[in-house]
Amino acid sequence: MSGKQYRRIATEEAFATPEQMEALRRLIARSSTYDPDTFLAGMQTSGGQITRRLLDVDGERLRIMDECGVSMAVLAMTSTGVQQFEPDEAAHIAETGNDRLADIIRRHPTRYAGLATIPVQDPPRAIREMERAITRLKLNGVMINSHTNGEYLDEKKYWPILEAAAGLDVPIYIHPRAPSPAMAAPYRKYQLEHAIWGYAVEVGLHAVKLLMSGVFDQYPNLRVVIGHMGENIPYALYRLDWMHAHYPFDRPKLKLTPGEYFRRNFAITTSGVNWLPALELCIKVLGADNIMWAVDYPYQETAEATRWLDEAPIAEDDKEKIFHRNAERIFRIA
Ligand code: MN
Repeated sequence: MSGKQYRRIATEEAFATPEQMEALRRLIARSSTYDPDTFLAGMQTSGGQITRRLLDVDGERLRIMDECGVSMAVLAMTSTGVQQFEPDEAAHIAETGNDRLADIIRRHPTRYAGLATIPVQDPPRAIREMERAITRLKLNGVMINSHTNGEYLDEKKYWPILEAAAGLDVPIYIHPRAPSPAMAAPYRKYQLEHAIWGYAVEVGLHAVKLLMSGVFDQYPNLRVVIGHMGENIPYALYRLDWMHAHYPFDRPKLKLTPGEYFRRNFAITTSGVNWLPALELCIKVLGADNIMWAVDYPYQETAEATRWLDEAPIAEDDKEKIFHRNAERIFRIA
């Protein structure tokens, strides 16, 4: 450890509610064929360390945060949130989950902030719940676990959700789940559809579809957050811009380049990528103002993520931004 004390805000930290766990168990019980997200739900509900850590917010989690010097965690319902459930069940679990999250934050106002879960399956209800979660429950943004029934947010029927987030001036965090069914098959061998590779492909595609769709011309202040050091997009920005300019093909005309929207409308987090070369590239191509620190608890280790950024040889000012200042600005944390 460097010995220096930072305010450290971890920004992609998972929790679960009893209602979500029960619904996942019912989903597992009635599923007969392999589905990667349901496979993950098996791990989330197994009763082991992951289950214990997802359900705990008052004990072990705070102890680990204290030991590692983590000031605050931005909690969100673990992937896939409510997006695998039927619309009514999804809405109920999202609503009770947001109420529980607001209670957790009331119990520990200096330790937790939170992102709302919304039933994306039913856009009007998703918007009502977003408005309630932000204006009444004072949550700090919204988390959506990538595709919903194989559909992405660039579909016009989901634009009202994006419009509502822009109107409320809160970010949408697009968190991974396994690639959508239409592109799943080649990932099956070696189970590549999980975090090892498929998650970044899935969210990277989702983000690129948004960049291409014109949604950021329609809602210029819409803010999207993605994790895992930008899901490979920062590395690809040159080619995205070059191909977009030289081979427009069948795409909407945009006011800015994909890279300009990415720098203006996106922020990334370091979740699960405790790796200096990737961080250095992201600071160079995005600027330190668009990067937030995260652990991805309980799936990865708090101590490693903390030590890594503590010891990273980057500018002190950048480190302060990445550890806490950007999160304070983007998620409106006091
Ligand atoms: Mn995560």
